[in-house]
Amino acid sequence: MKIVMIGTGYVGLTTGACLADLGHEITCVDLDAERIAALKRHELPVFEPGLAELVKVQMAKRRLHFAARPNRPVRSADVVFITVGTPARQDGDADLTQVEAAALETARLLRPGALLVLKSTVPPGTAHRIRQLVCGRRGGSRVRVASNPEFLREGSAIADFMETDRIVIGADDDRSRTLLEEVYEPLIDKGIPLISTSTINAEITKYAANALLALKIGFINQVADLCESAGGDVDYVAKGIGLDKRIGPAFLAPGPGFGGSCFPKDIRSFAHTGRRLSAPQHLIEALIDKNEERKRELAHRILREAGPAPARRRVAILGVAFKANTDDVRESPALTIIPLLQEAGLVVRAHDPKAHPPAGQLDKVVWCDTAYEAAIGADLAVILTDWPDYRDLDLERLAGLMAGHTLMDLRNIFAPSEVIRHGLRYVSIGRPAID
Ligand code: NAD
Repeated sequence: MKIVMIGTGYVGLTTGACLADLGHEITCVDLDAERIAALKRHELPVFEPGLAELVKVQMAKRRLHFAARPNRPVRSADVVFITVGTPARQDGDADLTQVEAAALETARLLRPGALLVLKSTVPPGTAHRIRQLVCGRRGGSRVRVASNPEFLREGSAIADFMETDRIVIGADDDRSRTLLEEVYEPLIDKGIPLISTSTINAEITKYAANALLALKIGFINQVADLCESAGGDVDYVAKGIGLDKRIGPAFLAPGPGFGGSCFPKDIRSFAHTGRRLSAPQHLIEALIDKNEERKRELAHRILREAGPAPARRRVAILGVAFKANTDDVRESPALTIIPLLQEAGLVVRAHDPKAHPPAGQLDKVVWCDTAYEAAIGADLAVILTDWPDYRDLDLERLAGLMAGHTLMDLRNIFAPSEVIRHGLRYVSIGRPAID
């Protein structure tokens, strides 16, 4: 099939490359002309494991193309996916400006019978609204609009797409459903479960899935607090809970609060939708506040470890990405924690294997090429991101470079015994501090 992705970010580029791998002919469009020019030179705008190789192979097979303008590819497309950003507004509602603009621009080019699919994460009712909007612009002529939420995670996006737990297709007519099933036929044939439902159900499924995953993280963070107060160890507790098949082990790792480009904005929008439709989401409202509070609380914990006079003391921050294997810093806990440390007078030296925040964010940080460089003269080292690289650190070398001897691990990536034998004091989450 001829497919166009409107928006070539994490989702548009990954799904475009994966759909090309499934045998379709894909054009990824982005209004950022520089991004498109770079992609044509095989330079990727985002870091995602395996993606550069997949893009290169599919370009060589001439199944993956890039364009700065939608006109030509959309005119001959069978299906057009909208994969643009849906940031949160101040009041928590999703800002659909990009989706609306992309839909209007696309709809005027679509040939009769072609399908417009919303893959961006949007509030329930958006597919209906977009259908009315674009049909109105086309003088009332019919445009089919379907919903196909995306569940991939940054850091494991290709596997998440190719071996997804399920495909959710939201369509309000048979022709749209058939076209979308054709897009995913190679995956459906492999036995991947398909949920074929209405657009509203598909839209709610995506929000509810993200909300439940975020709740699991918020829950285990509170259990970790309880473990600290009671003298317990959250690692054992999480294992004990997670082996229950009704619960499952994923998303039960305590940390500095969740961040990223999806959970925070999607749960705010979910809560906003609940308020708008008089179906308040009390659990999610509480989670939103609690998660923000957690980031601030952990900043204060770091300050307590830094001692009573933090001014000019040095802290080495290891990791600023919101999680491992991505260069994404959107809503990363680091963006809340580091400025609070700096306000209190700490000098922050930071390292991340891939993430480099854009200008204007974390400007006063001293950026270092390696974790060891960040640790030079540090009174305290703090692991903020669970990068596998940090698991392989030579802790003896790290300890030797530091002025102090405390390693705070806000991701519990080490076993305590492993750290203390190198002369470090080890403070982790939901586990007893060990000297
Ligand atoms: P992104 O910001 O990385 O990429 C969006 C791209 O769309 C940008 O490159 C932008 O230039 C482009 N764009 C905006 N308007 C356009 C237009 N009119 N025409 C062409 N290009 C346009 O966003 P993302 O992280 O890929 O997320 C996209 C959507 O998918 C969001 O709704 C997000 O919530 C959802 N989602 C994201 C993830 C994730 O892990 N990032 C996972 C699942 C779902």
